[in-house]
Amino acid sequence: MRRLVLILGDQLSLANPALDGFDPQQDAIVMIEAASEGMAVWSHKARIVLFLSAMRHFALEIGARGWPFIYLKLDDPLAGDFATRLQLVLAEHQPLALVVAEPGEWRMEQILRDTCTATETPLRILDDTHFLCSRIEFAVWAKAKKELRMEFFYRVMRKKHGVLMDDGQPAGGEWNYDAENRSGFPKRTGPGAIPAPAHCLPDALTREVIALVEAEFSDHPGSTADFIWPVDRAQALVALERFIETRLVGFGAWQDAMWTDTPFGWHALLSTSLNLHLLSPAEVIGAAETAYRDGRVALASAEGFIRQILGWREFIRGVYWLDMPAMKQANHYDHQRPLPAFYWTGQTGMACIKAAVMQTLQFGYAHHIQRLMVTGNFALLAQLAPREVTDWYLAVYVDAVEWVELPNTAGMALHALGKRFTSKPYIASGAYIHRQSNYCQGCKYDPAQRTGPAACPFTTLYWNFLDQHEAELAGNPRTALMAKNVTRLSPDERASIRTLAAQMLSAPDAL
Ligand code: FAD
Ligand code: SF4
Repeated sequence: MRRLVLILGDQLSLANPALDGFDPQQDAIVMIEAASEGMAVWSHKARIVLFLSAMRHFALEIGARGWPFIYLKLDDPLAGDFATRLQLVLAEHQPLALVVAEPGEWRMEQILRDTCTATETPLRILDDTHFLCSRIEFAVWAKAKKELRMEFFYRVMRKKHGVLMDDGQPAGGEWNYDAENRSGFPKRTGPGAIPAPAHCLPDALTREVIALVEAEFSDHPGSTADFIWPVDRAQALVALERFIETRLVGFGAWQDAMWTDTPFGWHALLSTSLNLHLLSPAEVIGAAETAYRDGRVALASAEGFIRQILGWREFIRGVYWLDMPAMKQANHYDHQRPLPAFYWTGQTGMACIKAAVMQTLQFGYAHHIQRLMVTGNFALLAQLAPREVTDWYLAVYVDAVEWVELPNTAGMALHALGKRFTSKPYIASGAYIHRQSNYCQGCKYDPAQRTGPAACPFTTLYWNFLDQHEAELAGNPRTALMAKNVTRLSPDERASIRTLAAQMLSAPDAL
């Protein structure tokens, strides 16, 4: 065998660079399901279904070409974790080289290097051309920058790829329409009718995988009853078209809005398809830009959406590879508290957290602001240990893969990397959640109260955070005002906040 091409579970594209020049006369492909990998680490059942079903659908595509193909299923007699299985395959077939596109996870890259060293197999890791910015290109951009800022990276990417550019200038004259992307739904009327996203009903293969997961992983969290995720490219293209044609129009204004019984808002639900490589970022960005150029959506919607993919998604991947493995240990505030049980059950009196966790258990999905400003904000204010929180995010979201989950959780939500790539911690009191949602209307707490029996835990813990970190916040121009606000509190009020916060922190599951 000349080359053995390894296709990992989140590289399910025929455009995978490891397939370039594939010669069925001399080469073969291998895919490995293993209980040690993304599909079966402690994980939402829907996440396991998604990985397994998408891998098996992709295997059908490969199989249809008649190419030499080794596919190891979870219950294959070739026992062992991913590394052991790969080692056995390499020992049996002895290829002249193992070829693979860059893995998404740092840990997987180490596994491949170690396994190839152990079996004396030459390893070729190819640039993952799915991404628009290579790891090296990002490293060059980031070199000599002490603090990395997405906005400047995004401008470079817009220019380089000619996205939303008119004669060398940003379309509409501004780089960023973020100010138009922050509305809450009208309090009196709510979100109104939002066109439903594409719900990809499980086909026979996915139903088989669901039955397997319900049998083999019955103790894992989450439900498979509402499995709606695309598992192959054809379904992903339908989901993309539905979003562009019916929902992108509302994405711009409402991307930060939250409302009860509105789990998806105007969001795209495309992260799983992008992360599994069923869709390429270039085609998703292209579809959004075309919708704007054709006059079907406003610039604020198209730009706000494109910024998430061309800006945030590429930036987050670049930072991950730059800062791993240290990123995994980062703990700027030295927070050490355990994760409250309600993160797994949703059983809490805090209506906002209950809503975010319950829809997470149902679908494996919460949108960005729920992840950042509800569960993430609480985790930071409640001083939870970053490793406990990052493990939770990796487990419960269907789109969770470490390269995108870890920087978002540790870097953005928990500020565990300090000012490395966010200029300030994303903290907010209950007032923010009240402004952006209707959750507070059905809550036993009052977002305006920071002390007393009805005090909202977000509000009390927010002021407690300001009190604790006053000096650091005062030294940062982006947070100096927050620090100034805390100086206005009377000594008695500060003492009451500290006492109530200590109670809340010591027994969060009683909230
Ligand atoms: P939309 O809101 O419609 O956005 C469109 C696309 O932009 C997404 O599909 C996604 O590909 C991309 N995108 C948006 N925001 C980000 C971001 N901050 N980083 C990278 N890409 C982004 N995203 C994941 O894909 N996997 C994760 O494990 C993950 N964990 C997160 C954890 C936390 C604490 C936070 C705050 C965010 C996390 N995100 C993660 C980013 C973002 O929340 C999700 O990409 C988004 O909610 C997915 O839903 P959507 O497809 O409807 O996205
Ligand atoms: Fe959340 Fe506080 Fe509002 Fe309750 S009052 S929903 S805890 S922000």
